Amino acid sequence: MSKKKTTAADKFANLPVEEVLLDVDEDKRFCPECGTALKYIDREFVRQEIEIIRPSAKIIKYLVLTIKCCHLVLYL
Ligand SMILES: [Zn+2]
Repeated sequence: MSKKKTTAADKFANLPVEEVLLDVDEDKRFCPECGTALKYIDREFVRQEIEIIRPSAKIIKYLVLTIKCCHLVLYL
């Protein structure tokens, strides 16, 4: 087998990656139940896009913050 198959993963493996953090609006940083200021606990990968600006391209990864108070966890 001499035919080399280029997968999408191969194609994008060398592209620079830019991470975009989707932050929370300030007025949404409080628990709707008890009014506690929520704490950031994690970042979660949501989606990625390939941005092509000829002659190059880059991957943009979108991350969303997960935040919580004493009794609930919100994904924003
Ligand atoms: Zn709460």
